[in-house]
Amino acid sequence: MTINATDTVLERLRERAEEVSHPFCYSDYIRVEANENGDYRCPKCGSDDLMREVDGVGCEYGTDWIMEHLVRTEGEEIDIDELYREVLDELYPPIQFGNLEYSPSAVLEAVDPVAFQMGVQENADSEIQDAWLIELDGKCYRMNEITD
Ligand SMILES: [Zn+2]
Repeated sequence: MTINATDTVLERLRERAEEVSHPFCYSDYIRVEANENGDYRCPKCGSDDLMREVDGVGCEYGTDWIMEHLVRTEGEEIDIDELYREVLDELYPPIQFGNLEYSPSAVLEAVDPVAFQMGVQENADSEIQDAWLIELDGKCYRMNEITD
């Protein structure tokens, strides 16, 4: 799993992944519906070793790939630099020199870019732990009904 998120967020994503996909027998290349016992077995070969298929996307074993697909396609990518700037500017007053005035985020970013980037990452990590963000391939996302 390459998604970085809380267990709750991952669970919601897995449920969504199951909703949008169907069991699929690759050998017979058919979608498999539940039988009268509610089990998923291929009606042709009897196999229960089934992939999951997403319309127009493909088929593969497991749900991890579907979860990643959902994050990429349904997630709203968040600019975590901008997120941290907002935090700094809410937390601290503007910095003044006579009648010159600078926002705290602009000052930190210009004076100590390394500290700024560390703050960006720490802030994003805490948002991930609070279930507000999902991280995938170094990008952060919010998702309707998935993140808090
Ligand atoms: Zn089959």
